[in-house]
Amino acid sequence: MPKIFLISAYTLFLSLILFESFTVFIFGKHIRIDVIEVILSTNTGVTGEFITTYLSQFPLPLALFLFALFFGLFIRKGIQKYKVPDKLAFAFILAMIPALGCLAINASFYARTGTVKGSYRSTSITRFIGACVLLKKSHSQMEDFKQRSRPETVQYISREIQCSNIVVIIGESFSKYHSSLYSYPKATNPKLGELAQSNLYVYKDVITLFSYTTSVIKTIYGITRYRSDKTFPPPFPSVLRGAGYRTHLYDQRDYLKEEKYQVIWSNMFDTKNDTKIRDDLDLINSIDVSKTEPSLYVISLRGQHYTYANRYPESFDRFKKDDYPEVSDKQHAEIIAHYDNATLYNDFVIYSLIRKFMDLEAVVLYFSDHGEEVYDYRNFMGHGGISEKSKEIKYQIEVPFMIWVSDLYKEHHPCEAEKIKNAVNRPYNTGDLTYLIMDLSGVKAVGYDPTRSVINDRFDSTYDRIVLGFINYDQRRRDSAQ
Ligand SMILES: [Zn+2]
Repeated sequence: MPKIFLISAYTLFLSLILFESFTVFIFGKHIRIDVIEVILSTNTGVTGEFITTYLSQFPLPLALFLFALFFGLFIRKGIQKYKVPDKLAFAFILAMIPALGCLAINASFYARTGTVKGSYRSTSITRFIGACVLLKKSHSQMEDFKQRSRPETVQYISREIQCSNIVVIIGESFSKYHSSLYSYPKATNPKLGELAQSNLYVYKDVITLFSYTTSVIKTIYGITRYRSDKTFPPPFPSVLRGAGYRTHLYDQRDYLKEEKYQVIWSNMFDTKNDTKIRDDLDLINSIDVSKTEPSLYVISLRGQHYTYANRYPESFDRFKKDDYPEVSDKQHAEIIAHYDNATLYNDFVIYSLIRKFMDLEAVVLYFSDHGEEVYDYRNFMGHGGISEKSKEIKYQIEVPFMIWVSDLYKEHHPCEAEKIKNAVNRPYNTGDLTYLIMDLSGVKAVGYDPTRSVINDRFDSTYDRIVLGFINYDQRRRDSAQ
């Protein structure tokens, strides 16, 4: 009996290690919820045709089973050959107990927070168990969200529309530390800088709760809750749609594009673009602005997502590697120049969009999904993968966040415009967007909480913001200021 247990345990370990080698080889990632989701999903376009063909011909569970069988037989043979006594096998099992305990603790931490607490304490088993629990949680969350996103189920506190046009632009990988709006020495945001002289308010202290897009998007729409509240409002597009706004989605990223998720988009939006457009400016130019109906536009851009060199046209090739004499590695200098050019182009894209709303009553919100590291303090570019051990999380977590209001809005709502202007230094996070949009639109649903709307008089600025579910960002900042 102890031998069978031993064989099974080792077989499981080895199979998972092999499985993880496979995920690292194919996806470049350890076992994570998104990797499992892609493997299980029938639509694997993201990972290319190779994997689609491979998986459709050779189902993964069968592969795992065969591996497990092979190793099981192999170990059994070894045990028989060397005549391992029962007592020794039993001793091995006893030795495994503390290890299994650690695995259980780490797996439950992973399942709770969605991230591993220091990769050195994590194993293939931890990550596999954690990812499976998360997957199950995410499924029931999505089912719940399908219901909550139906506009006809929204219960209102107020349905009085106060602003005819609300525009929410979700940028991509836009770093505060490469924006001249936030004192970066290179003029990467000249157009928005001009607007910041009058109607554009640049918020100084906004973070996102995760460092990768999918999790951030889930907090923005309220699919995942980062605080345990009794009442939780429906997603802002559904709230506005149910109150009479026409809602439009322009999405460059195709987030949650599988068939089973289409219902949440059609619950939240009247219209949705169906083809991705190569260039952000072309997408902006395709937007039809209504002059009559109250409208919400949510626009999700490609922004400055790597590869940076592909994110801007030749006419915006302003910064060159020689402009960065302080960067010793010339290859890095070139990549930084590409990033800054992409930011310069993005500045023009956002400006072009704002111009469409100049003569209307409108509020435009613009923020990045997460930040980006571009060799700022270490030999790394990109985002994601930060942990409690990361020394500097600010480059990935702090984001540019700004609100532009039209002259007509200022004229109609001088009091609100003043509040927007006066709130620029408050600590905020993009997971509380819904509350802010309820204040801006005037449409409020049950679950509305004024202490979580950055422009509200009752805003609570003492709440500590928790990143990745377990890093207290504000506490860290206080500690490092001492
Ligand atoms: Zn992103």
